[in-house]
Amino acid sequence: MITDSHSHTLPYSPDAHMYIDELITKAKSLGIPRVGITEHYEIDMVYPDNEVMLFNLDDYDREFVKWKAECPEGLSLLKGIEFGYQTHTARAIDIVASCHDFDVVILSNHNFRGEDVYFSKIVYDLPIKARHAEYIGIMAEMCENCNNYDIAAHYDYINRYNPDDKATVCYEDCPDEFDRFFEAIISKNKSLEINTSSINSLIAKGNPNPMPDPAILKRYKEMGGTMITLSSDAHRSEALAQHFNMTREYMKSMGFYENTYFIGHVPHTEAL
Ligand SMILES: [Zn+2]
Ligand SMILES: [Zn+2]
Repeated sequence: MITDSHSHTLPYSPDAHMYIDELITKAKSLGIPRVGITEHYEIDMVYPDNEVMLFNLDDYDREFVKWKAECPEGLSLLKGIEFGYQTHTARAIDIVASCHDFDVVILSNHNFRGEDVYFSKIVYDLPIKARHAEYIGIMAEMCENCNNYDIAAHYDYINRYNPDDKATVCYEDCPDEFDRFFEAIISKNKSLEINTSSINSLIAKGNPNPMPDPAILKRYKEMGGTMITLSSDAHRSEALAQHFNMTREYMKSMGFYENTYFIGHVPHTEAL
């Protein structure tokens, strides 16, 4: 098995359904060598019922030292965080990211016009190409405006909760926005995440083509993109490294032979 760079645990990520000990037990049983613990950190974002996705970073620093010490042999925990981007929080994200010694920083865009896509009512009323162009445009802006990150997460999050089971995110929806997004990642030496929770949501909807659009991967490669990171984005233990084997085979068929993970922000690779 290979590294899983993206996961969430309680109580730091309130939408998770596992504690760190459950994650460790499951990761050991699957033979995963490294797991990135990347808790949600959403600056200036309030959810329904006045919930926030923020936590005390000093507590997290201290707790992580204990988790690492208690981690069984053969498994390493990578200390991470997942920032939710909004245009006005770019500088704050870079500052918080640089003030703590993370192994891996994930940048995400969970929002569409100020609301999390999960809660948004209007997002699917827009024509698919306009919706994807706007969302990938913000992904590009996020990767241009922030610097202290390692991985650009789930470019396909915009489609994760789409009730239309046939819809997927395709390069041809918005080639200019995808090119700008890839240019930002590649020029800054960041990694493109292949998120298997997104793949899982398409499988659950019965979509016969759950893998990332080949045109997206082809264009990323053509522009010089080499770094990809397979991630489960697990919020429960059953989801750790889910669909990794089929996704690894698919990525190899697209000409990507290495998975990139980060230790102290330094990229390392392992064979897919
Ligand atoms: Zn996310
Ligand atoms: Zn996540």
